[in-house]
Amino acid sequence: MKKTTRVNHPPRVAVPADNHPLVAPIYQSVKFEFESLEETVRNLRGERPGFHYMRASNPTTRQLELTLAPLQDRDDCLASTSGVNVIAQTLLGLTKQGDHVLCFVETYGPTRQIIRRLLGRFGVTHTMLSIEDLPGIEHTLASTATRLMVFESPTNPVTKIADIARLTQLARQHGALTVMDNTFAGLHQHGEYDVDYFVHSLTKYASGAGDVMGGAVIARAELLRPLRAEFSMFGALLDPHAAFLIQRGLKTYFVRYREQSANAQRIAERLARHPSVARVHYPGLPTHPQHALARAQMREFGTVVSFDLRGGGEAGRRFTEALELFALTASLGSTESLVMAPQMLKPRDLTADQLAISAITDGTVRLSIGLEDIDDLLQDLERALSTA
Ligand SMILES: *Cc1c(COP(=O)(O)O)cnc(C)c1O
Repeated sequence: MKKTTRVNHPPRVAVPADNHPLVAPIYQSVKFEFESLEETVRNLRGERPGFHYMRASNPTTRQLELTLAPLQDRDDCLASTSGVNVIAQTLLGLTKQGDHVLCFVETYGPTRQIIRRLLGRFGVTHTMLSIEDLPGIEHTLASTATRLMVFESPTNPVTKIADIARLTQLARQHGALTVMDNTFAGLHQHGEYDVDYFVHSLTKYASGAGDVMGGAVIARAELLRPLRAEFSMFGALLDPHAAFLIQRGLKTYFVRYREQSANAQRIAERLARHPSVARVHYPGLPTHPQHALARAQMREFGTVVSFDLRGGGEAGRRFTEALELFALTASLGSTESLVMAPQMLKPRDLTADQLAISAITDGTVRLSIGLEDIDDLLQDLERALSTA
């Protein structure tokens, strides 16, 4: 073999079957081959396991999917390039022209856009209510044939709690499927509820390091099967490098979530006593209007604390710019603490009535609590509040 040929057909290093790497390798290969045409064809027909082309599947990405599914008490998962991608693909995959979707004002902004603009363009209608409006939800499901109910809990940014048992029971009773964005609650909570599809941004808690994006939809295998073929048409399977980084992040997921939630609880308690703060939104506070429901549904209350400054938007600007440890940027779930100012939080697509339901005020600030020392965080907050 000439050298030019050899570099394209390098020697294979076969790891013996009884010899395992402790950390699974990155399968950075688009193509996989079998030794015969017959086995290739059987694999393409789904008659034998194996891999063929990375747009459909890759061992590293598959390993991440199989790690994620049982965290959420389900048996299958599809991982894609971002949380928004997985939400868009899941909603497109589950609806057709003429279907109706029930969704909520208290929803991640891009999810509202996907339902209104993207699904709307393909003739899917929607009703948007408050997550707290149980009579309205029951009335809509009873009076309008509904394909999907799409909701989240705790909600972004004011951490309202959805009554998951009641919502899923109503959806089931009226023949609607449920899609729950469980990003805020994390991968280990709410799995015991009768939710059909959990969607997650893996960009947040799963990786924790803030250096990689990903998304996942987690469900029972028979519910995921119809989505799987369509996912490969979008060509957005999570890249194996990203899957590897997220898999690595997951090893410390539980300690991070627990520790960051404990920090968030301390911070919420401290803010609740501060004279410049009108109201703190954190499900772990006994003063949260749905604290009892949160305690029944959750073991940890998450790492997002939001609050309303008495001084409104101007105080919010001074406060967020005075913080030193909190980065003024989007996202959550990283080991660094982050802050979003009122000017970054105010939705621009809502009517005045919907804005009132959202409970976002001119002075609402959102904190995402990281892994820094709690006393340093409290000191930074106190100092910035005194300048606000
Ligand atoms: C961040 C986020 C998303 C979107 O995830 P990306 O990975 O940024 O695309 C969806 N839902 C919620 C609740 C989020 O916080």
